[in-house]
Amino acid sequence: MAYNFSNYHAFIANVDRRAEALEELHKTHMKCKKGCDLCCMNYQIFPVEYFAIEQALKVKAAETMESTNGSCVFLKNHYCQIYESRPFICRTHGLPLLFMNDEQWELSVCELNFTEFDDEEFSEENTLLQDKFNSELFLLNKQFIADNKLNFSEFDLLEMKDLHRD
Ligand code: SF4
Repeated sequence: MAYNFSNYHAFIANVDRRAEALEELHKTHMKCKKGCDLCCMNYQIFPVEYFAIEQALKVKAAETMESTNGSCVFLKNHYCQIYESRPFICRTHGLPLLFMNDEQWELSVCELNFTEFDDEEFSEENTLLQDKFNSELFLLNKQFIADNKLNFSEFDLLEMKDLHRD
């Protein structure tokens, strides 16, 4: 079945714009580089992301690996095999993330990147507001499920490791 991913791709473009702006803002602290895979785990993702990756795999065959110790099936020799099609969560790797947890604001920061940064200096302006993007993704996934009459609830998540192909 051919799905329409235009809303999802617009969302991803928006995420990338914000991520690039934050990378530029924090460039003196960001140590992320090719070959660093500490963030690459077997994530659970919404169906819209799962099927978008599945479709991308039909266009550009990517080798998948067995998930060992919870690693991502797309990680090979420390490199992402689907970098252009990676899901939302992977596009936030390494950035300072601000989100609500148990009614309290929480900050998630890569310890390799922000070694000399005072936590007090983080604000809404220089962090990625993860709840905002998560809410947008939740809603567009809900619409995707409805539009395509898929047998999922809006809360269902799929495992990236199930995209593994022998
Ligand atoms: S999709 Fe790519 S960036 Fe995301 S966890 Fe897997 S290997 Fe890492």
